[in-house]
Amino acid sequence: MDKSVFAKTKYFIIDMDGTFYLSGNLIEGSEYFISKVRETGRDFYFFTNNSSNNVEVCRDKLAKMGFPVDEKRVIVSSHVAASYLNKNYPGKKVYLLGNERLTGDMLAAGINLTDENPDIVLLGFDTTLTYEKIRKAAKYIYEGAVYLATHPDVNCPTADGFKPDTGSMIEMFAASTGRRPEVLGKPMTATVDYITGLLGCERDELAFIGDRLATDIAIGMNHSIPCALVFSGVTTPEEYAQSQIRASVAVENLKALAEYL
Ligand SMILES: [Mg+2]
Repeated sequence: MDKSVFAKTKYFIIDMDGTFYLSGNLIEGSEYFISKVRETGRDFYFFTNNSSNNVEVCRDKLAKMGFPVDEKRVIVSSHVAASYLNKNYPGKKVYLLGNERLTGDMLAAGINLTDENPDIVLLGFDTTLTYEKIRKAAKYIYEGAVYLATHPDVNCPTADGFKPDTGSMIEMFAASTGRRPEVLGKPMTATVDYITGLLGCERDELAFIGDRLATDIAIGMNHSIPCALVFSGVTTPEEYAQSQIRASVAVENLKALAEYL
């Protein structure tokens, strides 16, 4: 076992669904892993791409499973999007595809939301999507608005199978308009920049942990940041064996990962 993988790590950035919990229960070893993180003088944050949830929803879920955390410990892809908009397009008008939680987060971040003639279309995990919203967004995208998406996940795992996520909506708009968005959540550089800015650290002081290769692991691989794959969620060892996306460490769950700390 090579403990040097996380020698520089100060902050573990942990995915939630399929990594820390599954179907409303903490995955075996999750709390033990956090105790080891603390014991070894490190810290942790949760990061979820799921922009249909806000910090309160995530904290509620964790608290119900017996793991209450402070507000600051939960980061959502919507935070990256709001920060990116404020930095690169301050004051610009944004047409948002998002539910009431995402809308609330954007308004709280001072984003100028509009229904008509936007400069920017921001596609989030809109669990309240209607044909009218699709029609409007497609028109604005086709007409040349800046086009962003909070994250690329095609499906979202639930206790009742999966549901179509933002990545599927990206495909729908691509078919209609011929355009694809600039994506901002994991695995993109915008997310790395947001986290290092938030924590005031260097890239190599982070380590990503997650169950999904294309997001949780690709963000590490693409930015030379240590990353750990856990087989407690959507990826099987067989799928990993066939994948070009490589993790620094691949283990059964967080309990097994704790041995690397
Ligand atoms: Mg996950």
